[in-house]
Amino acid sequence: MSLPRSRFSRRHLLALCTFLVPLAVLALLGQNVLRRQGDEIEAGILSEARLYLENARSTVEQQIDRIMPDLVAESRNALADLGPVRAALQLREQERYAALLDVIVLDEQSALVWPQPPPTTMSLAFARDPRGRGPESGISRGLNWVDLLLTKGRFEEAAEFLEFLIGEIEKADEQRAGYVLARFRLATVHRRLGQLAPAAAEFEYVRDRVFPPGGQLSRGFDYLGLMSETALAEMGGIDDRIDLMHRMASNPRYAGVADDLLTAVVERLVEEIVAVTGDQEPQRDEALLLLREERQRAQTRRFAGAYDAILKGYLRRVLLQVPADEEPPPDAQIVATLGRSTTMLWVRDATEDERDRYRRAARIGLHVDLGLLLAPALGEFIATDSPFALAIHDPDDEPLVAPPATVPTDYVAPSADVRGLRLEVYPADAERLVAEADSRLRSSFVLFAALFVAAFAGALWLWRSVNREAELASLKVDLVSRVSHELKTPLALIRMYGETLLLGRARGEAQAQQFGGIIARESERLTTMIQRILDFSRQQAGTLSYSPTRVELAPLLHRICDAYTPHLEVRGAVLSDMVNVEATVICDENACESAIVNLLENAAKYALEGDDDQEVEVDLRIDGDRAIIEVRDRGRGIPAAECDQIFDPFYRATNSGEVRGAGIGLSLVRHFAESHGGGIAARERDGGGAVFRLTLPLAGTVDGAPIPALAPSTT
Ligand code: ADP
Repeated sequence: MSLPRSRFSRRHLLALCTFLVPLAVLALLGQNVLRRQGDEIEAGILSEARLYLENARSTVEQQIDRIMPDLVAESRNALADLGPVRAALQLREQERYAALLDVIVLDEQSALVWPQPPPTTMSLAFARDPRGRGPESGISRGLNWVDLLLTKGRFEEAAEFLEFLIGEIEKADEQRAGYVLARFRLATVHRRLGQLAPAAAEFEYVRDRVFPPGGQLSRGFDYLGLMSETALAEMGGIDDRIDLMHRMASNPRYAGVADDLLTAVVERLVEEIVAVTGDQEPQRDEALLLLREERQRAQTRRFAGAYDAILKGYLRRVLLQVPADEEPPPDAQIVATLGRSTTMLWVRDATEDERDRYRRAARIGLHVDLGLLLAPALGEFIATDSPFALAIHDPDDEPLVAPPATVPTDYVAPSADVRGLRLEVYPADAERLVAEADSRLRSSFVLFAALFVAAFAGALWLWRSVNREAELASLKVDLVSRVSHELKTPLALIRMYGETLLLGRARGEAQAQQFGGIIARESERLTTMIQRILDFSRQQAGTLSYSPTRVELAPLLHRICDAYTPHLEVRGAVLSDMVNVEATVICDENACESAIVNLLENAAKYALEGDDDQEVEVDLRIDGDRAIIEVRDRGRGIPAAECDQIFDPFYRATNSGEVRGAGIGLSLVRHFAESHGGGIAARERDGGGAVFRLTLPLAGTVDGAPIPALAPSTT
């Protein structure tokens, strides 16, 4: 009979619940605490960030309000007195207005009155395709020839050829573009040859053709005119040069010339003036001032180009939104990215003086570099020890101050708009925040992993111990019921035959003897049984001990066979003593005898039903350092799957049928064998039946000690 199998019972459920429910509650609480912690940190950061943002917003606003109204006011006087170039230069000299870049003048429609934007393409009317047909191509070929002569340094020949070419063109049509160019070349060749008077005459001719005094200027040859004027100034004195620079600064007839060329010419003139004049010469300062003005003018003209292309339309839309009847006259501001810097264009109404000075002037624009304007105020926000980083974007989303490179993934930056700028606040040390979030995630993972492992291990342990408890409880019940069952039968027989004898009911001496024999056999059986139960309970309690001695196995086995042959015969078994080798072992002789008797009894007990002539063999062999005692029968055998289990306490094979038994005998045999360093195994026998093999170490092979003391052990 098998032990009770572990099943899921209410006991299990209860035990698991008392363990798992608090664990789950713990997990939930832990998770909540972690989440709350995270939320609190995030909320704290967010509220600090908002405070920081508000601070930044008002700082930006204050900085603009601190500088711009003053700048606007001062620009009114400066512009009327000095004009836009000098006004911009002079205002910028003050540190607080360092962000002012340009001053421009606009008309009612916001179109540029001053400056004119630079020409988008340079007019090259003289540079016709030399492969083209017609008289122009003839001039071009002639000029190419001149170039060749000049590169070879044949200046006189070049001059002669140019005079010839000019004569030829005059005969045809002197208005042709190549004619002016030829005269200009002739002028430069004369100059190179040191023939200054004819050179000046030629340069003057070209200048007057390009910039006719008081007349229409001839577009397309502006650069030739400028180069001629420059050459004339260079051939004159310092005053001529300064005079030319003045004219270039104030005369709109140079507007068609590319800014870079104008600036380059002024730079060259100034270089020469500085080289010629001493440190103290007033012309030198004047020249340097003119150079600064020229650079400012060129810069403002470049801005004018951007204004025309990008800002004009935008400004018109903004102006439409400004209520016109406000006092004082409304200003408009637009913020945009030009090139790589963020620009603010502050537009105010023109004063009466300004309107007088510039025809059509209606508004004045102050072009300010916003980054420069805000930089002094933003210092504290850009400080490295600040916990936050400020990012500023203009309306085109271009960063005026870029956000930090690392931003936590789920971070939504608090933002505020001020004067067309969008401010955003980011944590300065995003890596620390990310690391903290990661560590919170890790903690919660570790918490869950630990709880899961604890839950799993605990549940397993609980399950096993509840099972074990259930098994033990059922073992006890089993032991009591089996033992009482086992004891009942012999007791009943003893009582029955005893009473029969007592009442003198035995028929004759022989029957009385037979009944007496039965009583004696059953009593012996009872004694053996009780001895086994006692041994078993000692074994379970761990107090079963043995008294080992040297035992000659062959004589012991012969003796057992002799003594038990009659017993077995009564049970219908024939015992064959096949022992014919000698073997000495060290063991408890009585325990050894009990074990072998147990095997013999079982062989008789589990005979096939109806087989009254079963042969049981007892054999002894030596295998290496071990003695092997085998008990073989031809009984019902043991199912292969149960060959190991039958040695477990209370286990009875499924084929034991009606045969009485408590299932403790073999567990005692195993305990005996293992306690002596041996073993016991069972298997099916070929041809039917069972083979039990008890192995014991031969004397002298256990640690060299002749008689080891055997400690009590439990199975
Ligand atoms: P019991 O014989 O009192 O049941 P044991 O511990 O001696 O207890 O034997 C355990 C079980 O092993 C038996 O119930 C029986 O099923 C099986 N068994 C033991 N010896 C034999 C055998 N010789 N042939 C078949 N089965 C056996």
